[in-house]
Amino acid sequence: MSQPRRPVVAVVGSINMDFVVQSSKFPLPGETVLGGSIEYFPGGKGANQAVAAARLGAQVTMIGAVGSDVFGGKLLSILEAEGISTEGVRETQGASGIASIIVSSGENAIIVVPGANGELSPEDVEANSGLIEKADIVLVQLEIPLPTVEAALKIAKRMGKKTILNPAPAAAFPNEWLQLADIVTPNETELAALIEAEPGTDDAAAALQTAMRALQDRGANAVLITLGANGAAMLTSDGEYIQVPGRKVDVVDTTGAGDCFHGALAAAWASGQPLPEALAFAIGASALSVTKAGAQTGMPTRQELDAWTQ
Ligand code: ATP
Repeated sequence: MSQPRRPVVAVVGSINMDFVVQSSKFPLPGETVLGGSIEYFPGGKGANQAVAAARLGAQVTMIGAVGSDVFGGKLLSILEAEGISTEGVRETQGASGIASIIVSSGENAIIVVPGANGELSPEDVEANSGLIEKADIVLVQLEIPLPTVEAALKIAKRMGKKTILNPAPAAAFPNEWLQLADIVTPNETELAALIEAEPGTDDAAAALQTAMRALQDRGANAVLITLGANGAAMLTSDGEYIQVPGRKVDVVDTTGAGDCFHGALAAAWASGQPLPEALAFAIGASALSVTKAGAQTGMPTRQELDAWTQ
């Protein structure tokens, strides 16, 4: 008997190696500090979301770039071990994307070097339009050059694909993008940046809805806001407001919660679930992810999620 076709998600986005250095203090300019430990974690919003979608049952194609340094091959093999197709990942000359994170007394200082991610071009996306053609959904974030994000959205729309724009990290972009995205998914801070307002001091549904409607007035279709422990809210393209509370969990590490949410949302929506159901699925998956350490390592599998929600 033939297996049902798995939903296909194409992620156009960043692939990073994160260096995490534990230190008793942050160095001052000119100072050398002896660190306690260093660990290497695969990261980047694009790769994190790709891993989440793959573990939750989607067939995932990554379109991105890694460097010719020692990390490039490692990053590719990590994606491949998750069953993600890396046919659309180009190897550029030079450094891979690196996030250098110093952690001291629970605070962190981070330098992100885009490296290969910064070289992912609109032409790279066009060259991989055959992979987009095979996808049900195209998922993009803003850790690659903005013209490349625009190309991905335009190519996906030209091919009639569903599109999710996760506008993170916060950046200004043309209103036209809002029309190209079926769903735009800022968190509260990114929403405030998009509508040029101060983040709300309370999370009153009314204030949130006003902000979401402001985005629709600028051309957005569905607007979905993630609210951390409070879950998420969505204003559908028909103007229906849906708020889903967060799941109460014992939090271990919230790193990558937003990425888990997006991978899960894409996997569920690509599989044909209606948006409100896909939203509920993403709330469950991201809640489970915060009970585990690490960004990619904390992404739950479909089996783990099913067992947890039973
Ligand atoms: P990050 O950038 O830290 O990955 P984000 O700001 O993009 O996160 P959040 O809104 O913090 O995204 O979290 C995304 C989703 O993860 C939420 O909608 C929620 O479902 C889940 N989540 C996050 N924090 C918690 C928590 N403390 N308890 C339960 N669920 C959580």
